[in-house]
Amino acid sequence: MYDIQEVIKADPEVAKTIEDELARQKAHVELIASENIVSKAVMAAMGSIMTNKYAEGYPGHRYYGGCEYVDVVEDLARERAKKLFGCEYVNVQPHSGAQANMAAFFAVLNPGDTIMGMGLDSGGHLSHGHPINMSGRYFNVVPYEVDEKGFIDYDEVKRLAIETKPKLIVCGASAYARKIDFKKFREIADACGAVLMADIAHIAGLVAAGEHMSPIPYAHITTTTTHKTLRGPRGGMIMASQEVADKYKLNRAVFPGIQGGPLMHVIAAKAVCLGEALQPSYKEYIHQVVKNADVLANALIERGFDIISGGTDNHLMLVDLRPKGITGKQAENLLWEAHITCNKNAIPNDPEKPTITSGIRIGTPAVTTRGMKEDDMVEIADVINHVLENPEADRAEDIARIKVLTDRYPIYE
Ligand SMILES: *Cc1c(COP(=O)(O)O)cnc(C)c1O
Repeated sequence: MYDIQEVIKADPEVAKTIEDELARQKAHVELIASENIVSKAVMAAMGSIMTNKYAEGYPGHRYYGGCEYVDVVEDLARERAKKLFGCEYVNVQPHSGAQANMAAFFAVLNPGDTIMGMGLDSGGHLSHGHPINMSGRYFNVVPYEVDEKGFIDYDEVKRLAIETKPKLIVCGASAYARKIDFKKFREIADACGAVLMADIAHIAGLVAAGEHMSPIPYAHITTTTTHKTLRGPRGGMIMASQEVADKYKLNRAVFPGIQGGPLMHVIAAKAVCLGEALQPSYKEYIHQVVKNADVLANALIERGFDIISGGTDNHLMLVDLRPKGITGKQAENLLWEAHITCNKNAIPNDPEKPTITSGIRIGTPAVTTRGMKEDDMVEIADVINHVLENPEADRAEDIARIKVLTDRYPIYE
């Protein structure tokens, strides 16, 4: 609706932080696997007057008057999500991915019930039962880990599930570079009578574009974020069959279960993002994301890095830095100095503390949105290697090489 000029006029202190952050995003190569760069249309919808509206409830059944237009936009978001993912039911109100997961747990579980989820060190998410998260505090959690090669061991997951009889099994991850077999997970869930929840926060865009198996035919409940590979506003979504949605009263679990009023400006932006994801160009984008990740992983391997599981099937990879004699924390800081942004990340059985780690996680969604292709991935791998092999060197040369890339692929011009 309105421009940054309005913030500059009204509040220069805040405006400066936004302008500084914009300059950072323009000048840095963004390799954080969970981030992306939204379109101006998504951003404009998010920054719109829809933020003024209270709309507790659902389209046609609200607790406030004046909801006729927000009803239309929420229905647009829901219908587009159904079409994109081929699901019967969707709830677009969760404020975030963690909120979507909490609502699903609230719908299906009672405090003290047993759940299974992938351990954090293996690539799982905090909200899948980590002790410091609500999910770990209120439920009895049985984590499953990846095998020594870095792959999910479905036979071991099945053995654990039959032994511990969880009421709910979560599949899906934040730092797992390989395909997830949702069909096998459903067989495991059926073998122990569990509800299967797939959390596709990271790979939603790959699922939407047909670059990853869809969980929709297999999982009872699917949750996601909208801001990672899906390239929309920060937010969450829940999908299911109508039968499962009715059985577990999923709408009621979100509101009034765990949330109050929906963020209608974010839901409007979700509708825009889902509309974009239905375009043929989005399929091409995701195809390139996956291709870029594969090229980047192989270029790093050629330069002496270890990649957990030996490569990637999706948009991200986990780099084991031990062969280079450097920690994840050091690598994150050194790369930051060279204008490459990534995050330190635990690797399976990491000997270092979570605040140090032995790895970094890197992903290609944001650089691919900028338009970067295979050759650029090789250049990025080469800069990463130069920085981490020469930690003491002056960073000017690396920064100059990154500037060539960011100048060639500008954003928000
Ligand atoms: C990112 C992520 C989430 C949480 O999303 P937020 O929007 O940050 O709450 C949940 N699950 C998985 C697997 C994720 O990767």
